[in-house]
Amino acid sequence: MTIELFRNNSYLKEHSSKVVKILPEGLVFNETIFYPEGGGQPGDEGELNIGNKTINIIGTKYINRELVHLTEKPDQLKKNDNINFFLDWSKRYSYMQVHTCLHLLCSLIPYPVTGGSIGYKRGRLDFDLETKPNKEELLDKLNQLILKNYEVSISSIKDSELDNNPDLVRTMSVKPPRGSGEIRMIRIGDNVDYQPCGGTHVNRTSEISSVSSIKIENKGKMNKRIIVNL
Ligand SMILES: [Zn+2]
Repeated sequence: MTIELFRNNSYLKEHSSKVVKILPEGLVFNETIFYPEGGGQPGDEGELNIGNKTINIIGTKYINRELVHLTEKPDQLKKNDNINFFLDWSKRYSYMQVHTCLHLLCSLIPYPVTGGSIGYKRGRLDFDLETKPNKEELLDKLNQLILKNYEVSISSIKDSELDNNPDLVRTMSVKPPRGSGEIRMIRIGDNVDYQPCGGTHVNRTSEISSVSSIKIENKGKMNKRIIVNL
């Protein structure tokens, strides 16, 4: 199993690692700073260096439970090669800002989330909601929350604790990461938002900077899509 360093520190931009497996799609390492596609967040991109050779990592995802760094010619490397990773930080940092912003959006709309997606400088959540919220009001409230500079903290609870508090799960389309017996929880401020999440976030809400615009689309009687642009 690859050690997933980004879980506890999402600010690692480079790291050394060792090749443990070569697959047709890409490479598996003993440790990584690359986030694998999941929960609406894209997999990380970047590059790795070995000697004077540079290899592009065009994406990261789980394939058959292995965290694979996608490359065009994985057979350029061999098992036990030591490499240096470099994350495409401008993309990843933007995903962290957008992701954290979507947690704030979630806190302002107390309805079930049925879908979502994180992109470069923009993201969206779909809510099981009949009436469109007021766009200007929402934009104003989001930017106020960002300015409060709340701390974003990581903790964990037991599976059984989540079973006893099913309301903690806000996103119906993404299952909380189970399997280890512990579930990773993300908290913003004391009580702004608290929910299971496996993604990468900024440490403080002021790092989101600001939301420049919001768009709300009708995607069915009980489905409103809210798009935020940073
Ligand atoms: Zn999250």
